[in-house]
Amino acid sequence: MGQLDILWEYQIFDMKMDKYNQMRKNIPLRYRLIELRDYLMKQQEQLIKYNDEADKKNNTLNRINHEYEIIANTFKADYNKIENTQVKTLKQLDEMHKTALELKEKLAKKEEELEALINDVQSLSTKLNEIRRNILKAKKEYSGIKSQYDQEVKKIQKEYQTLKAKRDDLRSKLSDSLIAKYNNLKNSRNTAVVKIENNCCGGCNMALAALVLEKLKQEGSIVECENCGRILYSGSSD
Ligand SMILES: [Zn+2]
Repeated sequence: MGQLDILWEYQIFDMKMDKYNQMRKNIPLRYRLIELRDYLMKQQEQLIKYNDEADKKNNTLNRINHEYEIIANTFKADYNKIENTQVKTLKQLDEMHKTALELKEKLAKKEEELEALINDVQSLSTKLNEIRRNILKAKKEYSGIKSQYDQEVKKIQKEYQTLKAKRDDLRSKLSDSLIAKYNNLKNSRNTAVVKIENNCCGGCNMALAALVLEKLKQEGSIVECENCGRILYSGSSD
């Protein structure tokens, strides 16, 4: 086998490796994993947000509870005064009655506030539970898909390594300058070596000059297409 025959084989393995690389990137499960990861991140953010909100509501709840207690205690203290007959005059009793009514009103307001807050806290806690459930569900799905995905990657990786070993074996039989030329062409033209089809370049379809075709017959010569620069290959020589 001449250098060109080896290079042709080399290109076949090299391109198959590229295909496996693409396959690895395009495993459909990968997109679902990315989707799930984004979803989980959003849910975590929501969880933090609602947790903070719940903390604040709890603090408010404690404060109002405390205020409620103070009012209730004042009310009770006044009531005890009447019980213990500390109230001597009708005027005093009148005033206490007035205060009692005011306190009763304040208590009713605090009760309203408390009720509203308790409702808020309850709906927050419902939301939090829902988010926690969603997170658990998504995490479960993620780890299931992840292990499937890892298996597929492993399979692709294995085939890739087999191809690479074959390609690298051929690489050792090629000159550095030829490989450098190959890599340059691959980067700029996607394919570096092309077959001749009906005296035309298999890369750009340009008809090849008689002189070029003549040069190709010489053993060991590397001939490039005058139009696209790709290395021309006339087929296996054995
Ligand atoms: Zn060409």
